[in-house]
Amino acid sequence: MKILVVGGAGYIGSHCVRQIVEAGHEPVVLDNLVFGHRKAVEPSVLFYEGDLGDEAFVRPVLENESIDIVMHFAAYASVGESVKEPLKYYLNNVAATIHLLNAMKQAGVNKFIFSSTCATFGVPQSLPIVETLPQAPINPYGQSKLDVELILKSLACAEDFRFATFRYFNAAGAAEDGSIGEDHTPELHLIPIAIDAATGKRDSLKIFGTDYETPDGTCLRDYVHVDDLARAHIAAFEKLDQPGTQLFLNLGTGKPYSVKEVIQAVEKASGQKIPIEIDLRRAGDPPALYADSTLAKETLGWEVKFTELDDIVATAWKWHSTHPNGFED
Ligand code: UDP
Repeated sequence: MKILVVGGAGYIGSHCVRQIVEAGHEPVVLDNLVFGHRKAVEPSVLFYEGDLGDEAFVRPVLENESIDIVMHFAAYASVGESVKEPLKYYLNNVAATIHLLNAMKQAGVNKFIFSSTCATFGVPQSLPIVETLPQAPINPYGQSKLDVELILKSLACAEDFRFATFRYFNAAGAAEDGSIGEDHTPELHLIPIAIDAATGKRDSLKIFGTDYETPDGTCLRDYVHVDDLARAHIAAFEKLDQPGTQLFLNLGTGKPYSVKEVIQAVEKASGQKIPIEIDLRRAGDPPALYADSTLAKETLGWEVKFTELDDIVATAWKWHSTHPNGFED
């Protein structure tokens, strides 16, 4: 099969591109390289540089390449930033996605894999988070992803449109061989920031809130390895052969770790003490998010290979310590 990977030069997208090749399918990458990195994708993979929201650009790619499935990873994904710049999030994550879906409709492509998020649940009514819980996002990032989930449902009511939506918990780690990994500018996510503080690339790490009602007062999150996330996408391909497929699946390890525990894991991997500062809570942060991924297991046979935070962080450390300047190295 031929898969258009929108955002294929980004963090999760680039790991998925590799697995598409390993699974014997053909990826075609579409990325505007604003945040993606050309070097994150093998030169042998067909690459189109352009915007997902540009229908005049996307539609011919879909048609000329005879694309079977579109995977969409190209989104902004920082909770704090989304609170400060909501329009940026709605324009990119929602409006541009509508254009992508419209280009697909014009080109007659009806299979879609969408990257959603646990942030669509807001402050969950119960933990771990099962798919049936009400979704009530508390930040524009989560809302933008929920908006697209609803659009996908509407489309599937109107026509033969099949999709799998994965609600990622906290994507983490890097390729085991250390060749590709996370490289964001600016970096806003906890593990790479902690690594930068361990290596001295930044002076310290700020902990956003130590007064949550959690065991150590810091937020709990479910850190899931990027290659485990990618494997769920490959497993979904055959489901999309069936008309009527609409999947909404949570992808996490099910294990919550606090910000302080993440810092300890990075200290262990790096052998360095991380200088920390206690800061105020970050707007838009729920106290605890962790997954019940039973449905993904039952539906796709999906199971995480990386169950331990230390192992996930070790892969991140391998990538960052060998690529202090990310893909510029
Ligand atoms: N966090 C923190 N300091 C930072 C970055 C993140 O304390 O410099 C916290 C953040 O408040 C959240 C957790 O780490 O509780 C994970 O944040 P991240 O931005 O990595 O992912 P999110 O859960 O927001 O998607």
